[in-house]
Amino acid sequence: MKEDFVKSKNLNEIKLYRHIKDSDPEIYGYLIQELKRLRENLELIASENVVSISVLEAAASVLTNKYAEGYPNARWYGGCKYADKVEEIAIRRAKKLFNAEHVNVQPHSGTQANMAVYFAVLKPNDTILALDIASGGHLSHGHPKNFSGAIYNVIRYGVDSKTHLIDYDQVKDLAEKHKPKMIVVGHSAYPRTLDFKKFKDIAASVNSYVLADIAHVAGLVIAKLHPNPNEAGIEFVTTTTHKTLRGARGGMILTKNEFAKKIDSAVFPGIQGGPLLHAIAAKAVAFQEAGKIEFIEYQNQILKNASKLGEEFVKKGYRVMTGGTDNHLVLLDVYTTYGVTGRDASNWLEEANITVNKNLIPYDTLSPFVTSGIRLGSPAVTTRGMEEEEMILIAGFIDEILKNNGKSEIIKNVKKDVLDLLKKFPLYPEIKDE
Ligand SMILES: *Cc1c(COP(=O)(O)O)cnc(C)c1O
Repeated sequence: MKEDFVKSKNLNEIKLYRHIKDSDPEIYGYLIQELKRLRENLELIASENVVSISVLEAAASVLTNKYAEGYPNARWYGGCKYADKVEEIAIRRAKKLFNAEHVNVQPHSGTQANMAVYFAVLKPNDTILALDIASGGHLSHGHPKNFSGAIYNVIRYGVDSKTHLIDYDQVKDLAEKHKPKMIVVGHSAYPRTLDFKKFKDIAASVNSYVLADIAHVAGLVIAKLHPNPNEAGIEFVTTTTHKTLRGARGGMILTKNEFAKKIDSAVFPGIQGGPLLHAIAAKAVAFQEAGKIEFIEYQNQILKNASKLGEEFVKKGYRVMTGGTDNHLVLLDVYTTYGVTGRDASNWLEEANITVNKNLIPYDTLSPFVTSGIRLGSPAVTTRGMEEEEMILIAGFIDEILKNNGKSEIIKNVKKDVLDLLKKFPLYPEIKDE
């Protein structure tokens, strides 16, 4: 390759137009390995999903070449006429899906969407009131190791020690006592529906903003299977586009017209430079898919599958946090159930090609590296076409391994069953893995 480069004068000669398979077999090899891993694993990580071929194509498109700092029809660079169209379409589709007044599709990730909202209306050391991590909160909601915890004064609300549900009275008390500038609502591991209206009322009584982060449940919100924070009058709504929404990896902000300018300038030039137009194109494609009736059916099946998983574990005698789920995720306390830590459980399951994550449970007695819990989610397996019948099998696989303390003989057998099951649900059959 180096020689090629020295001798050549133009792109054709250095063979920049070769396919990756020939030009960079090392990376290509890992991409193929990853494709095989996806095919041969039961993906139960609640924040993951599998995008369509159309979304993949948009994400891998020539728009990665384009600099387009600014916004449609107000860019710093020339040559943006098609970039403008793509971003305008993404915005238009997102507004419609979420019934939002104003949308910014440029945040590179969910964390960056949150950062932009904070940066738009908070000053350093302002107080925010947010859900703590052990109760299901996210790093970017004021974790001490995150910028949000370093820059702002963070007060935490949690869940009730008995019901493990959000204690709205506690939120109200803390809001009255600390007068936060912003109340942050949203979670990564809370299996129940959020009452945005209650949060909005509490915030209004203390003259505080609300940021509703619907990163996990955005798809459910579109399908009207979870309340929509825009319709509860909440000022700032952020989301990722790659979880239940099943789009390209990225973030997005929805807001009211009165905050449009503030939010847009917080994203650019506030915290980002050029937008990732290829990612925005892929978001637009995913938004088109999310506007279809099939997407509503898909979200319904996500709920049915998660609910079936929860039911099965209750039947098997597990400590299922909150007794089940209203959304796409189930939180199991495996430590109380079997004396198995979340870390061991997730490692054993991975050996059997079942991918989950260890997770803190409310009032956990173990550290975040060990944890008492595992989190299971149904979005990715539902995308593959699985239904309740398969959820019963999956709960059985997991239980078999945990109740036998990760015995290697058992793991081997379960892995065989997992592979057999996955064969019936092909993933990207049109992509070759060689
Ligand atoms: C996943 C998640 C995010 C962050 O998304 P990234 O794209 O990983 O930065 C933000 N908030 C919540 C509640 C999440 O679950």
